[in-house]
Amino acid sequence: MADVQGYCVKCKTQRTMKDAQEQELDNGRRAAKGTCEVCGTKMTKFLPNKKD
Ligand SMILES: [Zn+2]
Repeated sequence: MADVQGYCVKCKTQRTMKDAQEQELDNGRRAAKGTCEVCGTKMTKFLPNKKD
């Protein structure tokens, strides 16, 4: 998938997610999961649903 920006709790700023992968959660929401390109901390970014 394309580069995803997310908030890194360790860097305390927006970072590009490395190896981002889209996943569907148990509650039906979608999220991108990856690691911070700078420090390697795991990051999760919730994505908007395709349909309401
Ligand atoms: Zn980071």
